[in-house]
Amino acid sequence: MTTEQSSLAQEVHDLLSRLGVSESTYTQGDLIVRTPLTGQVVARVVKTKPAVASEALAAAQRAFLTWRSVPAPQRGDLIRLLGEELRAEISTLGRLVTIETGKLLSEGFGEVQEMIDICVFAAGLSRQLIGLTIASERAHHRMMETWHPLGVVGVISAFNFPVAVWSWNAALALVCGNAVVWKPSEKTPLTALATQALFERAASKFGDVPLGLSVLLVGDAQLGQLLVDCPHVPLVSATGSTVMGHAVAPRLAGRFARAILELGGNNAAIVCPSADLDLALRAIAFSAMGTAGQRCTTLRRLIVHETIYDDLVARLKKVYLSVVVGDPRDAGTLVGPLIDERSFEAMQYALNEARNQGAKITGGERVVLEGSLDESFYVRPALVELTQQVEVVKRETFAPILYVLKYRELDEAIKLQNDVPQGLSSSIFTLNVREAELFLSATGSDCGIANVNIGTSGAEIGGAFGGEKETGGGRESGSDAWKQYMRRATNTINYGVELPLAQGVSFEI
Ligand code: NAD
Repeated sequence: MTTEQSSLAQEVHDLLSRLGVSESTYTQGDLIVRTPLTGQVVARVVKTKPAVASEALAAAQRAFLTWRSVPAPQRGDLIRLLGEELRAEISTLGRLVTIETGKLLSEGFGEVQEMIDICVFAAGLSRQLIGLTIASERAHHRMMETWHPLGVVGVISAFNFPVAVWSWNAALALVCGNAVVWKPSEKTPLTALATQALFERAASKFGDVPLGLSVLLVGDAQLGQLLVDCPHVPLVSATGSTVMGHAVAPRLAGRFARAILELGGNNAAIVCPSADLDLALRAIAFSAMGTAGQRCTTLRRLIVHETIYDDLVARLKKVYLSVVVGDPRDAGTLVGPLIDERSFEAMQYALNEARNQGAKITGGERVVLEGSLDESFYVRPALVELTQQVEVVKRETFAPILYVLKYRELDEAIKLQNDVPQGLSSSIFTLNVREAELFLSATGSDCGIANVNIGTSGAEIGGAFGGEKETGGGRESGSDAWKQYMRRATNTINYGVELPLAQGVSFEI
């Protein structure tokens, strides 16, 4: 091991210790954690045994029974405190996100900023869990709806947003009066341990938080299944691949539990003749190569009008060949490593498939950094020109591959954009109001996110986040996503002396 490598392991331990994580949880276990930066082992995390997980689920259920009666604005105060802890540790946790996932430092800090933002949103929301008052058809009657806490909310998260996804769910679930059980990705347990430690810090400042209100289960898919099958978990929010969604959804449906599914994307942007090409170029580069193509909203397909195709693609090629691939902690780096070898192999497999379909490929090769081990996987992002939307393009390959296609008529471009199984994010670049509005209309993009003149990635927490079709249909974060974490009761109150029946029914006894 080089000096740089052993100092990296030491840095991880220092960060965890500063964040309040007990050393035995990450030095004495059998879940091996490698940093994608160098490929070296940085921790050995203790997995949660199934019996301990069952006890944690029971504790969460008990915590829920107490927490549901705490007034919502007080629950919001716990989340306000969590936001403060996160704000105080943004650089520590952000750096750990970078080391564990390979994101740039600005992206690691950005992920923690997103957690702070959702805490602010949820704290405000805790005073706005509002229901409707509805006109009753009967005299001296009032009808309204009330929102009540739901129960224990399960959160299963993916490696690429290892902590933000938990916060989108947990901040809302907790102000809504629920307990939360979290099964993070087995590839990123360290940031999960750190987040749990910060939650516990906030809880101890809050005071009276029931034991088990927010618990962490560390392990692989089997532990996730335990959560999915638990009869005391009425809602599971699961983020990950569509393969995972296919396994989880029927099990939840089988016991009539709710599901928020946030699955794979295959996001496209259409570039029209009137587009501001300088702006489009920057947006495309960030959406397609940012986080080394490992965002669910990463731009994977570019559909360019034939009149500007040559110009735009020539400029993109230059960017693809010159973008700095390297250590994400270095200031000049724009593309960090892939998470692991499987990811690298999936990328090469997709590129070969495209090559066999006649694609022209720029980039895509492995980049070996000085001092890194065989287990670190850096790649030059790939720009792949194709004449048709062949099978490989319709699949999500979770790596920096941008497929480029040409179009003549906008209807044809929209058809191409929608002709994939996924439906997460989409963009159009145009200065033509008719084109923009058509894209946003019922006959335009079929995605959960449709943007004009910005890229497909980088959503704000204020909007509801999620997508259609194989992306799973779930919505998280802002807008009225909170309603999914509560149960709705419709109440009718008769304050008169008569008993008129609805729909004029007569029932005299
Ligand atoms: P993954 O599907 O391999 O794992 C995600 C999580 O699901 C992990 O915690 C894993 O342990 C768990 N899991 C897997 N199979 C399970 C099962 N049968 N039962 C219960 N739990 C199970 O995904 P990944 O490689 O970590 O992440 C990348 C994928 O996630 C990509 O497809 C990406 O598009 C998607 N993603 C989607 C969103 C979104 O909001 N739509 C956000 C981030 C990532």
